[in-house]
Amino acid sequence: MQYKSTRGKANNYTFEQAVLAGLSPDGGLFIPQSIPQAPADFLTKWASLSFQELALEVLSLYIDQTEIPRQDLKELVDRSYSTFRHKDITPLHHVKDGLYILELFHGPTFAFKDVALQFVGNLFEYFLKRKNAGIENKADRHKITVVGATSGDTGSAAIYGLRNKQDLDVFILFPTGRVSPIQEAQMTTVLDANVHNVSVKGTFDDCQDIVKGLFANKDFMAKYNLGAVNSINWARILAQTVYYFHSYFSLLRSLNITPGSEKKIHITYSVPTGNFGDILAGYYAHQMGLPTDKLLVATNANDILYRFFCSGVCEKSVGEDGGVHETLSPAMDIVVSSNFERLLFYLARDAAVDAQVPEAEKDVKAGEIVNNWMVDLKQKGRFDTGAQVLAEAKKIFDAGHVSDQETCDTIRSYSHPRNPSQAPYVMDPHTAVGVKAAETVIPKIDSQNIVISLSTAHPAKFSDAVEKALKDQEGVVFEEFFKTVLPKEFDGLMTAERRVTLIPRADEALVIEVIDKELSK
Ligand SMILES: *Cc1c(COP(=O)(O)O)cnc(C)c1O
Repeated sequence: MQYKSTRGKANNYTFEQAVLAGLSPDGGLFIPQSIPQAPADFLTKWASLSFQELALEVLSLYIDQTEIPRQDLKELVDRSYSTFRHKDITPLHHVKDGLYILELFHGPTFAFKDVALQFVGNLFEYFLKRKNAGIENKADRHKITVVGATSGDTGSAAIYGLRNKQDLDVFILFPTGRVSPIQEAQMTTVLDANVHNVSVKGTFDDCQDIVKGLFANKDFMAKYNLGAVNSINWARILAQTVYYFHSYFSLLRSLNITPGSEKKIHITYSVPTGNFGDILAGYYAHQMGLPTDKLLVATNANDILYRFFCSGVCEKSVGEDGGVHETLSPAMDIVVSSNFERLLFYLARDAAVDAQVPEAEKDVKAGEIVNNWMVDLKQKGRFDTGAQVLAEAKKIFDAGHVSDQETCDTIRSYSHPRNPSQAPYVMDPHTAVGVKAAETVIPKIDSQNIVISLSTAHPAKFSDAVEKALKDQEGVVFEEFFKTVLPKEFDGLMTAERRVTLIPRADEALVIEVIDKELSK
């Protein structure tokens, strides 16, 4: 499998190039040359595979054996998921008739980004080892310096994915005092020598701008061979497709349905969405042949995607703080979703390119259309894709948006269900956005119309919001209730030894100084 760009001007990249480069030279994102189909008999053949076995099958369709031999890929997958606390890796929890929660938070940092970043870390290590085979002289070895900015989850998941990897250093910039205390502790208590936390006095956007500046600095780029693990990295999307397949088979098992049988059920995946990486993986799974009915884009008040799926118009919201609304589900507080461009490419190709255009030229045309949309978004703050593109999108996608109040109400109602036969379930605010959106958009959730709602974080990771939701419930002792949910891994985390460099103002030169100093050690 080769990779191409969403802007239509770059082709024939290997998987390794696509993963290590992150962004294509024409400014687009990498996508596979074509979307592979799952084998004709996958519904029976894959039905009882473990998560790891399934991952091997799915990833093999996107990574040629000549690039990563199957045995090596198997070892990479096994190692990546050995750090998860649950034997199913991403277990499916039955909440009530028709509603299932796909728990993606059983990795080291208690949020779904581990599913991808544990794999990406091992992948980077694998590529480096291969490049460095037989090179003894330290100065001659290939090295990668990963630099990233985070408002919380990405940083901790990246650090846990990359810690202690040979020939690789990771610098994570975060805004001082603006990530949650647990997230900050998760990042800064990792003391491996190759992990460097940089706390920058400023905002998340300041951190992001510094990172962008470093990547635009050709000399610096070359000197340290900068790498990125942000949400546009293709390997992250790829790793996430696996749990769509895995949860589908878990669901059939739980319903006692024979895979491939005629019994008709409708399945909607509801996905709390920020940068559109998680749900995009669901789109790939669907295009590969997974029988899903709908993918539901669940947003918080940062609802650019919700508005798109209503109108076909993508329009940045404006206002203070660059248009971002601060919500109880901060990992979804975005203005523009970076991975949305990948879906736009497919929509453009299927519904905006003139039908007369020969097959061989469609990619280039679609790339031009995507490029125009992106230019418009940058210059005018909006673009309109038109009725046909919207209709194409609506074939698979639906969308809902959820307020903070609804988020709290949802957390509360599931932790204290009215129906005595329903077991209490404490969910985090991001998960609640997904559940509430499904309840709003889908008229009837039942044993024929099933919702699998993705849970992207453990409730303890966003305990402030959960506490807010549960506290004023009459007759409920919050402390007692929450104690049963708090993972033992969080014990002692807040007081453990930390390593972090403080930077007194958002200044690229100061960050360069820190990187120079740390890497010359
Ligand atoms: C990153 C994140 C999301 C959003 O996922 P995208 O792939 O960016 O859409 C949702 N919830 C949590 C907890 C996250 O960390």
